[in-house]
Amino acid sequence: MKRTLISAAALMACVLTMQAQQRNEIQVPDLDGYITLKCDFHTHTVYSDGLVWPTVRMEEAYREGLDAISLTEHIEYRPHKDIVADHNRSYEISQKKAKSLNLILLRGSEITRSMPPGHFNAIYLNDSNPLEQDNWRDAFKEAKKQNAFIFWNHPGWDKQQPDTTLWWKEHTELYEGGYMHGIEVANGSLFVPEAIKWCLEKNLTMLGTSDIHQPIQVNYDFAKGEHRTMTFVFAKERSAEGIREALENRRTAVYYRDVVVARKDLMLPFFEKCVDIKEVKRTDKAVTLQIVNKTDLPLKLKKTAHDTSLVYFRNYVLQPHTKHTLTIKFENGIKGGDMNFEVTNLLVDVNKGLDYTIKL
Ligand SMILES: [Zn+2]
Ligand SMILES: [Zn+2]
Repeated sequence: MKRTLISAAALMACVLTMQAQQRNEIQVPDLDGYITLKCDFHTHTVYSDGLVWPTVRMEEAYREGLDAISLTEHIEYRPHKDIVADHNRSYEISQKKAKSLNLILLRGSEITRSMPPGHFNAIYLNDSNPLEQDNWRDAFKEAKKQNAFIFWNHPGWDKQQPDTTLWWKEHTELYEGGYMHGIEVANGSLFVPEAIKWCLEKNLTMLGTSDIHQPIQVNYDFAKGEHRTMTFVFAKERSAEGIREALENRRTAVYYRDVVVARKDLMLPFFEKCVDIKEVKRTDKAVTLQIVNKTDLPLKLKKTAHDTSLVYFRNYVLQPHTKHTLTIKFENGIKGGDMNFEVTNLLVDVNKGLDYTIKL
């Protein structure tokens, strides 16, 4: 009897461990020649103003299906006075756990200054300690010296930009000096349309991050299918170097709520990999298509043709992992045409979804 109890307890422990390790793979497509890595380059732990231990961030990231993470503690803001350590400590504590979970852990720090220039993350650092400088320009110089990838965090944060998201002359200085390689388009629940415009105009990398401070489930309800704000990185290989190459070549997408933001040249193949579209029936009066959405994303279609001859939906949502049969009618004697729509939640510019045409 005693033995049975022990076995049951052991089994229970095993089940609990398995539950703790359960990984939710995010179902979005790879592109030809690239794998889609799910990354969060902006998080905090107790080593700055966060509320969790560094290894817990690794467990969270694993469970949510992330491939890469960076713990970007504030250099200049560390309110937990009981915790005394240098700026590399949370990275060092997490290394073993990250490795055991096959997560790519990037050393990073948040340069935390008043506006201008505001907050910036430097990732791919070798040593975070030299970023502690009196003058913010010296902190950027040190990050650049270490060949860090540097991006502007939450440019639309109302605490620093109370009514308008401004680009200051200091940002021109950083951009022109090679100290700014990307901008956060989304940070947690904050969405910054201006950042999309700046990234497109200035050829900067678009990023989405959680900037999580709390335990992750405090900010996101996973039972409702929510996910943290993150970056999809279209990388040639699943490694720190692979991510770096993709970041430098601007191959990213921002995943915020049910919206994805990316450059058009990436979004077009991305959408085409999200769906299977095939013609299943054709008569003189109509054509029937079968469309399968293979992803976790809803795909929101909006008609963009003011044409009464080709009759199809005005708005149509392909919910995640669903199959649809759509009949498009021919009027006025036509036998085919262009079915034009915009995918309104796959943004390629400010308030502009991807335009797509199915030739019928
Ligand atoms: Zn910040
Ligand atoms: Zn932060």
